[in-house]
Amino acid sequence: MDLSIVIPLFNEEESLPELEAWIRKVAQGEGYTYEIIMVDDGSKDGSWAMIERLASQNPNVRGMKFRRNYGKSAALNVGFHAARGRVVITMDADLQDSPDEIPGLYHMITVDGFDMVSGWKKKRLDPVLSKNLPSKFYNWTARRMTGIKLHDFNCGLKAYKNSVVKSIEVYGEMHRYIPVLAKWAGFKKIGEKVVQHQERKYGVTKFGMERFIRGPLDLMSVIFISKFSKRPMHFFGAWGIAFFLLGFIILAYLSIAKLAYQEYGIADRPLFYFGILTLIMGTQLFVTGFLAELVSRNAHDRNAYLVEKEV
Ligand code: UDP
Ligand code: MG
Repeated sequence: MDLSIVIPLFNEEESLPELEAWIRKVAQGEGYTYEIIMVDDGSKDGSWAMIERLASQNPNVRGMKFRRNYGKSAALNVGFHAARGRVVITMDADLQDSPDEIPGLYHMITVDGFDMVSGWKKKRLDPVLSKNLPSKFYNWTARRMTGIKLHDFNCGLKAYKNSVVKSIEVYGEMHRYIPVLAKWAGFKKIGEKVVQHQERKYGVTKFGMERFIRGPLDLMSVIFISKFSKRPMHFFGAWGIAFFLLGFIILAYLSIAKLAYQEYGIADRPLFYFGILTLIMGTQLFVTGFLAELVSRNAHDRNAYLVEKEV
């Protein structure tokens, strides 16, 4: 199979028939063998009935329904596990992403050899204050922190080699950072393609103000995970030892001052408290490092996907 199109959706019943028809037109025009995987993330409207109807009309349509709303990341993850196509393309269900971009993305993966291509909504048709400006800042930060030169990390329209989606685990709100997850999994050729963006035609946005808090927190998690999750002791242990030594030296100095030079009022000096503080912080960081090592030893994916090729 050439192509799997994974579509996470939450209350998008009005958009689905148009979206399916449009994708079908493009796929038939290009002669792809394809599947459309619609993952219903616990919709409360008629989305699932619509998916059942579309699946009965078009055998290339598959559907999955969550029992409740788990979030876009979970929906993508399930779609990724199910995808059988050589190329996997994700797009939003709300018709903001254009299926006309599919052939271009497909070409970049199959011919130009990219592992992953992210769409870039260069001309973005969303509210400026609540979406476009924060998104610029967020992308700038993500670029600086991860070293991946993308303008639009969180674009819903992306294309992957099948092996990429099978090697990453998208959970929580990590759909914003799939390029980081892919890079971390060892896929280096990550590209970008300017894509058309439409205004939302039906329904409303599913992401409100909470993303201002969750987005940056998730970015920190991703960076920490990608750098240290396999070796937490190198982070916590190093800082732990540094703090412990600092505290030890301070307290040793104060002890010598008291014992050898009979200095009075050691316990009144700020340095005394600072020494105790750093000693305790050092010990805590060190212990945290040990616990983190134990946790990562038990992580189910600790050795997953190491082998790329076999003969
Ligand atoms: N979505 C989802 N689960 C959620 C929230 C959103 O599957 O909990 C889907 C939504 O239906 C859409 C895509 O994720 O297909 C992007 O959401 P939306 O268009 O609301 O985001 P925006 O374009 O406003 O950033
Ligand atoms: Mg949208």
